[in-house]
Amino acid sequence: MPAPLIPVNSLVRHIAPLKTVLSADAASVIDSGYYVLGPGVAEFERAFAAYCGTAECIGVANGTDALELALKSVGVGVGDRVAVAANAAMYGTTAILACGAIPVFVDVDSVDALLDVALLAETLGTGAIKAAIVTHLYGRLARFDGIVELCRSRGVAIVEDCAQAHGARSSGRVAGSFGDVAAFSFYPTKNLGALGDGGAIVTSNAEVGQRARQLRQYGWTAKYTNTHVGGRNSRLDEIQARMLLTMLPLLDGWNARRRDIANRYSNEIRNTSIAVPASASEEYVAHLYVAHCERRDALRTHLEGLGVQTDIHYPVPDHRQPCHRGAYDHVDLPVTEKLATTALTLPCFPELTDEEVERVIDACNRF
Ligand SMILES: *Cc1c(COP(=O)(O)O)cnc(C)c1O
Repeated sequence: MPAPLIPVNSLVRHIAPLKTVLSADAASVIDSGYYVLGPGVAEFERAFAAYCGTAECIGVANGTDALELALKSVGVGVGDRVAVAANAAMYGTTAILACGAIPVFVDVDSVDALLDVALLAETLGTGAIKAAIVTHLYGRLARFDGIVELCRSRGVAIVEDCAQAHGARSSGRVAGSFGDVAAFSFYPTKNLGALGDGGAIVTSNAEVGQRARQLRQYGWTAKYTNTHVGGRNSRLDEIQARMLLTMLPLLDGWNARRRDIANRYSNEIRNTSIAVPASASEEYVAHLYVAHCERRDALRTHLEGLGVQTDIHYPVPDHRQPCHRGAYDHVDLPVTEKLATTALTLPCFPELTDEEVERVIDACNRF
């Protein structure tokens, strides 16, 4: 009999132990008569801002809206140029395009796939750039020292994309507190995930926070007074907020378990044809564990044959997506393009058992 499949992720395993408490959360919201932007959202906003070490949190409908409204709240508008990496599944680029702004793609580091600071500096030298989206890809903190200094000296706003990095930290500072404003997603598969869509913007800049709060609700400055252009309806539900409040205290434990699994892979996968990320400390919350292999598709088939499911994050870089209709055909991002052909995501989620982790390691070592 073949060994049972090891999934890349399992929300059933993740949520099942919480069924009773989450059901009680849902019931309390049903009884309350408040369903959107009520006291549960306000309570979650306070708790999540405190967790991130920011002054404010603004709950929104999803992570892509959070990025779009974060960009707009730092002043990005039609025709503005925004620097962004092209290896994060179009999320940042979609938000830039939704602002009527122009993505300016920057290549990434060949080892950790994070924004290349020297290339960002080059890009900022090519003409006015209004903002930079900095993604903590796969849950690993970007190189903030260099990026903050660079952007501040040129008046470029920093928008952190923390959708994969809830709780990643360095020297006591948590993802979301490094830039001018940050976006989070609570899509169910994220390190902190709701049972539906959800997102948040965090910032310590009062003006940016107020603007984000107004933009999430039609651009209102008072009820039925639409002051700002670019307003949206993007609100967080009470049910999701209450469930997120229940799960927030569990986040650091989940992240620690993810990181332990990732570090086991990094230390114990010993196969010269598989490049693994360096083992890591608190700066990595192992949202995705991505290895690289020149014979990626063959490795994928091999692992599948041994009951190990894999995925590819991400197969098509932003500048090669069909929606641009060739507008970026001249853009050359050699590292981004190369990594898209070698990346392979191994199973990594808190409920993976030690025995499964060992099977994944053994299967990789047998390639
Ligand atoms: C998931 C994700 C988003 C988008 O979040 P949604 O809630 O799905 O809109 C943005 N950026 C990154 C890096 C993500 O992983």
